[in-house]
Amino acid sequence: MVWNAGLAARNFAELVTSRGGSHERLLLACDDGRNFTFAAFWALAGRLAYALKHSGAKPGDRIAVQVDKSPEAIALFWACARGGFIFLPLNTAYTASEVSYFLTDAEPAVLVATPQRMADLAQVAKVAGCTAILSLDDNGSGTLMDAASGTLEDHFDALVAILYTSGTTGRSKGAMLSHGNLASNALALTETWRFSAADRLIHALPVYHTHGLFTATNTLLLSGGSMFFRRTFNADDVMRLMPDATTMMGVPTFYTRLLQHPGLTQQATAHMRLFISGSAPLLAETHRAFKAKTGHAILERYGMTETSMNTSNPYAGERRPGTVGLPLPHISVRVADPQNHALLPPESDGMIEIKGPNLFKGYWRNPQKTAEDMSSDGWFITGDMGRLSRDGYLTITGRAKDLVITGGFNVYPKEIELLIDAMPGVLESAVFGVAHPDFGEGVTAAVVAQPGASLDESEMLATLKKELASFKCPKRILILAELPRNAMGKVQKALLRETHKALYLPV
Ligand code: AMP
Repeated sequence: MVWNAGLAARNFAELVTSRGGSHERLLLACDDGRNFTFAAFWALAGRLAYALKHSGAKPGDRIAVQVDKSPEAIALFWACARGGFIFLPLNTAYTASEVSYFLTDAEPAVLVATPQRMADLAQVAKVAGCTAILSLDDNGSGTLMDAASGTLEDHFDALVAILYTSGTTGRSKGAMLSHGNLASNALALTETWRFSAADRLIHALPVYHTHGLFTATNTLLLSGGSMFFRRTFNADDVMRLMPDATTMMGVPTFYTRLLQHPGLTQQATAHMRLFISGSAPLLAETHRAFKAKTGHAILERYGMTETSMNTSNPYAGERRPGTVGLPLPHISVRVADPQNHALLPPESDGMIEIKGPNLFKGYWRNPQKTAEDMSSDGWFITGDMGRLSRDGYLTITGRAKDLVITGGFNVYPKEIELLIDAMPGVLESAVFGVAHPDFGEGVTAAVVAQPGASLDESEMLATLKKELASFKCPKRILILAELPRNAMGKVQKALLRETHKALYLPV
């Protein structure tokens, strides 16, 4: 497959319509019984672009979207891609005060939200200066759909999405992505994973994150295949789909859940040609157990919001458990000294750095952070530590950032620590991740009480649940006499992780 940088950089939508196979093919088979051909989906995106324009959005404007998973949610991205708007998806678990941060930072022209959230978010959207707030339900109804009564001539802008991601400072930053970023990655993945019009992908991922929104959907749009589009992951449902499906993309949790299913056998997975995992580390143990039960070697890949996918275990060659494989076509990966960015020899631990057409265009309104994360010779400094083998396989050894990844979602400790520290009777806290059999990592807090105060774990958890999206809530709060610190006075999170590493393991 030839990488046509010119075409892809200009316009990803043109690439999809020219390459995506028959327009009458089935694109989406949804769990609510609705089906969409490619032609119907594309027409829907055109009408949504019209609705956005007639709600006051101009090319280059941001469109913030906090809706449940639905075909319309994905079509909204394509409405932005074709209308020249910038798509800004938000995790549905975010509370109104969390959404308020993103709206103030990104200043979108339009907010699209679920009907249930309208009352909650109307004031927040108004304060942030949105010109319109529209509703969209997961069955395809709402004021957005009412306004989708015409079509718009396509207009392309260089930027197509802003996806908010982690920050060492604890605040999310908006990663700006272009048509060329997404098109180049979809081409690389289609080629590497050998997707074709014959593929039927089980899509049970959320669509506000790069994995479900871009990695899965864009690859299938480009290859001409179709998707079983499920609102959430359910092991029984996925087992039922396997005889008609060919592929699945999932987070490690999907695989640990499937492994607990009594129906998971070689025969039950015989129609599947490929299982892909990413967004968090897949334990080598899970890889081996899945192979033993089904005969399939899960293909693990590595990526992030800023770069889309970087590396993948090979389709035909060795899929090495515990590694994230080899660089994708046209993408370079190096391991460098974190201090001076000097290239390190194979088998050395260092900072993973990336170069290629997949690199994002910088952080939204944050040139300083963008500059900090780029080396002087144009490599993106990922913040992940890793090692390259002599034959080019990458292993991730840790995260320089102290981010916790739970069920595939990033949690920034600082945000939780600030909330805990503000609670009555709390002296200080440290939030860290501990291995969790179901979520990869479980968010855990260590808390020290003020002298004379007494703290109650369940009361504190109940308070936090009201303030935070549930995936961010600590699974446990440990009340300690003091936090371990080094000679410089810094809290030693590595020591906390080590001391409590068995917290969530079965006894
Ligand atoms: P996000 O931007 O939410 O996609 O998170 C990206 C981060 O997830 C990366 O920087 C890695 O730390 C982590 N990550 C993604 N894929 C893998 C993987 N296969 N193994 C280990 N960590 C991963």
